[in-house]
Amino acid sequence: MKEACCILSCDIVNTDVVIVGTGAAGLFCALSLPETMKICMITKQKADESDSFLAQGGICMLRGEEDYESYFEDTMRAGHYENDEKAVELMIRSSNSVIRELLRYGVRFEKNADGALDYTKEGAHSRPRILFHEDITGKEITSTLLRQAQSRKNIEIREFTTMVDLVTENNTCSGVVCVAEDGTRYVINADNVVLASGGIGGLYQHSTNFPHITGDGLAIAIKHNVEVEHVDYVQIHPTSLYSTKPGRSFLISESVRGEGAVLLNKNKERFTDELQPRDVVSKAILAQMEKDGTDFVWEDMRPIGEETILQHFPNIYKHCLEEGYDVLKEPIPVVPAQHYHMGGIKVNLASRTSMNDLYAVGEASCNGVHGKNRLASNSLLESLVFAQRAADDIVYGINHVDADVEKVDMSAYDDLDSVFAEYKENIFGEMERERTNND
Ligand SMILES: Cc1cc2nc3c(=O)[nH]c(=O)nc-3n(C[C@H](O)[C@H](O)[C@H](O)COP(=O)(O)OP(=O)(O)OC[C@H]3O[C@@H](n4cnc5c(N)ncnc54)[C@H](O)[C@@H]3O)c2cc1C
Repeated sequence: MKEACCILSCDIVNTDVVIVGTGAAGLFCALSLPETMKICMITKQKADESDSFLAQGGICMLRGEEDYESYFEDTMRAGHYENDEKAVELMIRSSNSVIRELLRYGVRFEKNADGALDYTKEGAHSRPRILFHEDITGKEITSTLLRQAQSRKNIEIREFTTMVDLVTENNTCSGVVCVAEDGTRYVINADNVVLASGGIGGLYQHSTNFPHITGDGLAIAIKHNVEVEHVDYVQIHPTSLYSTKPGRSFLISESVRGEGAVLLNKNKERFTDELQPRDVVSKAILAQMEKDGTDFVWEDMRPIGEETILQHFPNIYKHCLEEGYDVLKEPIPVVPAQHYHMGGIKVNLASRTSMNDLYAVGEASCNGVHGKNRLASNSLLESLVFAQRAADDIVYGINHVDADVEKVDMSAYDDLDSVFAEYKENIFGEMERERTNND
């Protein structure tokens, strides 16, 4: 383990690997590391409060060699062919082994009457290839991974612990500076640091993401001149339940449209093909809202049929009922909302960033899989595949660098509001720069 000292006295925790984030990416990375390694995971809130828990629709899987070409093409087309082809191929080809591992951990995917895995379809997929668990697939996968991690003696999870900075010297990372719930500031010193800190939805007024997921990993990477990519590629989901209440927007999963729901204008007429890629459908909805002078369009789930709605989408049904809409009887108002960040910390196929001993995985990273627009249900898969690759690289990779003594001035984190205001500015500033460069 690397030696560290602080300019001002502070506690130091020593570990082999520190993982920032307890979503699907962070947990799968931790579980893929050998049990002989000491791993410290930190998370801003409770361990089960991550966007991974919110995923509704499902997780993609390659259905045999005959599905390869069309799965690859669907991903590329959705991404406007700006995807990294090697990364896409790796993700697709790794999907069977990752799913096998999830099943081994005890994840329950829906099965058909014959006991075989069942598949659903979402927008821009040319065939059903999405595994699901009711409409709470993310919760099923991530809670299973969390239970596994909690049972491992080598993995420690620190809740309500916020990373406020990286410890770096000579382009090498040797740990993170964090703040505990009671305000205590300390350093976690590690041979390798993995940023699994999720997307940027919390920076937006209307987002389907948890408000505490505010792109901290990305902002801190920008601060330390770690390479970032496509920060301006932000996905807007076409259908969140329209509400005037403050807080997180409730997602109406794309698989609802995949199973037959239709979008209607103010006169309750269809106005677009509901199964186009997300960015195309979002644009069509926003244009229709402008034309109609409304704050939302309607989504009618009744074509799906009562039995499938109750079996496949029990939570969406229940949530809408609580909001005063019975989807079995009437259309619901929906509006696009910020949903996913395709851009992020630039990584290679081993999830390495441009800084020594610093990795980024999941939504915090940009490995090029999604190109300009993510295909539905590819993100959980991408998170898991590249989290495992990070773990493999930590164990088997070469060129790990020993950093001797790190100096941390803890007084730099006295005023955390200003620190996070600066981080927010890092992200929106970078977005603006990329947009200007692309114009
Ligand atoms: C409503 C919704 C539905 C979705 N549906 C699907 C779907 O059906 N299929 C699919 O493939 N994808 C779906 N997605 C996307 C997918 O869930 C996410 O992209 C993916 O789970 C990201 O996982 P992650 O581990 O990278 O990040 P998250 O799961 O977001 O985890 C981020 C973690 O980082 C921690 N963190 C952040 N900042 C700090 C900090 N400064 N210090 C300490 N900890 C920090 C957070 O507390 C959290 O634990 C959906 C997303 C949403 C919001």
